[in-house]
Amino acid sequence: MRVVGLHRDVIVVTSRIWQTTCTIVRREHECFVIDSPVLPDELEMLPAVLEHAGFQFTGLLATHADWDHLLAGLAFGSAPLGVAETTAARLAAEPGAAARELRAFDEEHYVQRSGPLSLGRPQALPVPGHCEIGDAQIDLHPADGHTADGMAAWIPWARVLVCGDYLSPVEIPWICDGGSRATYLATLRRLAPIVDACEHVVPGHGAVLDPARAAAILREDVAYLESLPGGALPIARRSAHQRAIHAENLERL
Ligand SMILES: [Zn+2]
Repeated sequence: MRVVGLHRDVIVVTSRIWQTTCTIVRREHECFVIDSPVLPDELEMLPAVLEHAGFQFTGLLATHADWDHLLAGLAFGSAPLGVAETTAARLAAEPGAAARELRAFDEEHYVQRSGPLSLGRPQALPVPGHCEIGDAQIDLHPADGHTADGMAAWIPWARVLVCGDYLSPVEIPWICDGGSRATYLATLRRLAPIVDACEHVVPGHGAVLDPARAAAILREDVAYLESLPGGALPIARRSAHQRAIHAENLERL
């Protein structure tokens, strides 16, 4: 697990599996944990990361309902989980799906955990909208297209964009169940001006990006999506697994 400080109020933890990111943001005496690492030891360490930084835990946020982003509750008990209305709707429509998919992952990789995942009752946040934190706000922007749901979080005083499963340096745009090329492209266009104004972009998977690199990935991803079905994969993202994602995308066009 990698732990990187981006700002005195923002820490990013990156999982050893899929480079799934978790962003910890503090303002005054409040602190939210956005998304989650995946492996049990990484989750167990999260409270210590907050404590070491002097951040007082307030609650959880998740960018979207894919299970690998929803695990922070395993580290913070039955803490409240704030999600976009679209994500709350998806969680309500597929009760237990995240817990089942986590169990399937754990069985496949012989991972042991101390208990099952329980999401409690997620709190639906209006998106576009804001989430209050200390004397400031985190801005929430719709981010659908990868799936049917999701939000990107803009931390204005630190100029950090936490965008969920978009702008990844390790994963091509992945149109999953409920997603579409048109909504994915609309999300990228929505994120573009924020990327131009930011200091750091935290993608759902992969290393934190500076604005120039994030803008380059955004251009590559728009070009890839617009070129489908004929599209060539971005040069740095052509592994066998990325080609499998590409094949899945073609089926969803
Ligand atoms: Zn993901």
